[in-house]
Amino acid sequence: MTCKILYGQPVRDEILRKAKYNGVKGASLTIFQVGNNDASNVYVRNKTRVCAMAGVDVNVRHIKQNVLPPVFGSKVISTKGGILVQLPTGRKELDSIVNVIPYAQDVDCLSYVNYQNMLTAKKDATLMPCTVRGIIEMLSYYNIDVAGKGVTIVGRSKLVGEPLSVILSSMDATVTLCHSHTYNLSTYTKLADIVICAVGQPKLITGDMIKEGAVLIDVGINRDENNKLCGDISFDSCKDKAYAISPVPKGVGLTTTASVVYNLSVLQEGRI
Ligand code: NAP
Repeated sequence: MTCKILYGQPVRDEILRKAKYNGVKGASLTIFQVGNNDASNVYVRNKTRVCAMAGVDVNVRHIKQNVLPPVFGSKVISTKGGILVQLPTGRKELDSIVNVIPYAQDVDCLSYVNYQNMLTAKKDATLMPCTVRGIIEMLSYYNIDVAGKGVTIVGRSKLVGEPLSVILSSMDATVTLCHSHTYNLSTYTKLADIVICAVGQPKLITGDMIKEGAVLIDVGINRDENNKLCGDISFDSCKDKAYAISPVPKGVGLTTTASVVYNLSVLQEGRI
C-alpha cells in the first residue's frame, strides 16, 4: 500500500487564509515563556515566524520557572492583545498560570472560561486549543471523515488528548482515550481506524500496533537516538501498513502554530 503523507503546510496555509479573512492583520500577541527550555525555544520561534507571515506583531517576555500567579497577574494586567504562556510540556502548574489570563485574551483556550465554553460547544466551538484546531483542520483538509470511525487517542493532556476526545466524539467518532495507565495499549490502537498519538515518547507506536489501512496522526515531537526530530509514531515501521501518516517534522506542528494566528483572529473579532 502506498502511504499518503499528510503534510502540514497546505493545511497551515488554509488556516492562515481563514485567519486573514477574519481580519487578523495588525493584531498583537504576547508570548510569556516560562523558563528556558530547549523545546519551548523552538515552539516560540515557530509561533513568531508564522505570526510574522500573517502580519501579527509578537512580543516575547520571559518569566521565571516558579513564577507565582499574582506576580504573573501583575505582568498580564499591562498587556494588550492576545496572550499565551509557553510552558515546558507536562508541567502541572499550567492551570494556575493560564487562569490569570483574561478569557478575551487567552489565545490557547486553556483558561477556565474558554475551556468550559469549548467543552459545551464541542465541534461548533469557535475557540479550541491550538493543536486540537490544527488536527481538526488537517482531517478536514485531507477529507478524512471521522463519523462512525473508531478513533484511538493516546495521551489525555488538557492541551491535546482530552479536548480532542470531546470534539471528535461530537463529530460522531467512537473515541477511545488512552494514557499511561492503559494496560496493553496495542489492544486499542489495533482496533482503530484513526490513531492520534500525543504522548512525547519517540516511536511508541509501531507497525505491529496498528491495523491495515489506518490513518495515523502524530502529534509528538521528540529526539531519537541520533538526536533527529521524530514523532511518537515509528514512521518507517508503519508506512507500509497505514493508509496515511502525518510526518514529524512538517506535520501537525505547522497546523498548531497557524492555529495560534487563527485563535487570535477569533479573539480579535470578539467571537468567543
Ligand atoms: P503531556 O502533558 O506530558 O501528556 C502526555 C500524555 O501521554 C499523558 O496523558 C500521559 O498519561 C500519556 N502517556 C505517557 N506515557 C504513556 C504511555 N507509555 N502510553 C500511553 N500514554 C502515555 O504532553 P502534551 O503536552 O500533551 O504533549 C505530548 C507530545 O506532543 C509532546 O511530545 C509534545 O512536545 C507534543 N506536542 C506537539 C504539538 C504540535 O504542535 N505538534 C503540540 C503540543 C504538544 P497520564 O495522563 O496518565 O500521565
